[in-house]
Amino acid sequence: MPSFVLIPVYIALMITPLVLSFGQDLPARGLRNDLASGLALVAFTILLVEFVLSGRFRVISRRIGSDVSMRWHQLLARGAIVLAVAHPFLYSAPYAPARPWDPTRAETLLMRADYLLAGTLALALLVPFVLTAIYRDQLSYRYETWRRMHGIGAGLIVGLVAVHALIGGRYSAQGPLAAYWVALLAIAAASLLFVYALKPLSQLRHRYRVASLERIAERTWEVVLEPDGGEAMTFRAGQFVWLNIGHSPFSLDENPFSIATAPGDRPRIGFLIKEVGDFTRSLGAVEPATHAYIDGPHGHLTIDGRQADGIALIAGGVGLAPLMSIARQMRHDGDSRPVVLVYGNRTAEQIAYRAELDDMSRAMDMRVEHVLSEPPEGWSGRTGMIDEPQLAAIFGGRPDPRWLYVLCGPPGMLRAAENALRGLGVAPNRILSERFVYD
Ligand SMILES: Cc1cc2nc3c(=O)[nH]c(=O)nc-3n(C[C@H](O)[C@H](O)[C@H](O)COP(=O)(O)OP(=O)(O)OC[C@H]3O[C@@H](n4cnc5c(N)ncnc54)[C@H](O)[C@@H]3O)c2cc1C
Repeated sequence: MPSFVLIPVYIALMITPLVLSFGQDLPARGLRNDLASGLALVAFTILLVEFVLSGRFRVISRRIGSDVSMRWHQLLARGAIVLAVAHPFLYSAPYAPARPWDPTRAETLLMRADYLLAGTLALALLVPFVLTAIYRDQLSYRYETWRRMHGIGAGLIVGLVAVHALIGGRYSAQGPLAAYWVALLAIAAASLLFVYALKPLSQLRHRYRVASLERIAERTWEVVLEPDGGEAMTFRAGQFVWLNIGHSPFSLDENPFSIATAPGDRPRIGFLIKEVGDFTRSLGAVEPATHAYIDGPHGHLTIDGRQADGIALIAGGVGLAPLMSIARQMRHDGDSRPVVLVYGNRTAEQIAYRAELDDMSRAMDMRVEHVLSEPPEGWSGRTGMIDEPQLAAIFGGRPDPRWLYVLCGPPGMLRAAENALRGLGVAPNRILSERFVYD
């Protein structure tokens, strides 16, 4: 299924409840009231589909990339909150007990304590729920604590909205629309079951152990796993996994990391990990042979199946990991296409795999361009940032439009490099990128 099919599927999911409510042929009750109901129907659909968008389904992540699906998840959550908050305030009909001459409630809104309480509570929870997600970085919770709270909060809100809709929704409480909600609720529940029960169960049967762990650059570790019996996962160069070292597969203690080794290096699967927080700073204490689990592969940062006369790999810091996997696989396959690796770091101590990169540039048609923003004395490589003048200099003024440009690194660097490439005439469909941010 091509990625563009996902957009019409999403739009169809949004429109379906509106169509089903029109199909009920209830007496009209004024545009404003129906608009209020319509907003609620769309908001509820968004909330339910959010479970799938955040559910790490390969069918989605392989097509649009996990970072894009997460960005949609965030954007749509903001949309849902606006619609949900607006909806009760748009009603002009009064909340009143059912009137005998108005069985379809064309003139009134249902006034039942359970219905109103569920809706009000859902709304009251939704606002802090979305705000704590948007401002999560400013909160002092551990990521795992926040994720647990986010999951419980999402379940609670959706449960309350379901009660609200299925008890008292003028359109939602009956007929095909009620069946539609039950189906979407079942899909949301199934996606939770899949991520938190079925996947961990299958991981139990594919255990790995830490084969080696080495600090290879400033605050940067190389972690290599090997299967603990069984086969190593298959993947495409450039993909990432959720890595759990030393915990049960049912634990939420797992983090996304790109695979830095090549598919051709299997059964060993290696990672390049930078110390930034509690898990990554504790890597030094991991004992060899500690068990590990991986959920994957995910992501679409891969050159497989894409036409290109040459490959440009542009990495910021530890963003080298997936690009290293691509370069290593090209070497493994004897791929003769030219490669340029632009590798930006702050200092020389942060450069990882320097010797291997030198070796690669001798063994294959690969040029490595190190760029340092704080170069040491005597540094003969490039200096500054990976910006338009830098890329113009590296690619001889005009990057080849028939090449593929694969970018990975921190969000700021990615934005700058993508804009620079476009400014230099590279078409957007020749640029592949992945942000190391997933929330
Ligand atoms: C697709 C992808 C690929 C990545 N590949 C690499 C890589 O190859 N090498 C590397 O060093 N880093 C990579 N990262 C970043 C890496 O996931 C975080 O640095 C790491 O999770 C930080 O964990 P921590 O507990 O040490 O820090 P914390 O202080 O807990 O977290 C720092 C930040 O990392 C992110 N983060 C933490 N835990 C999770 C989690 N469970 N799920 C999602 N995000 C989380 C959050 O944005 C958080 O604010 C990648 C991220 C993504 C999204």
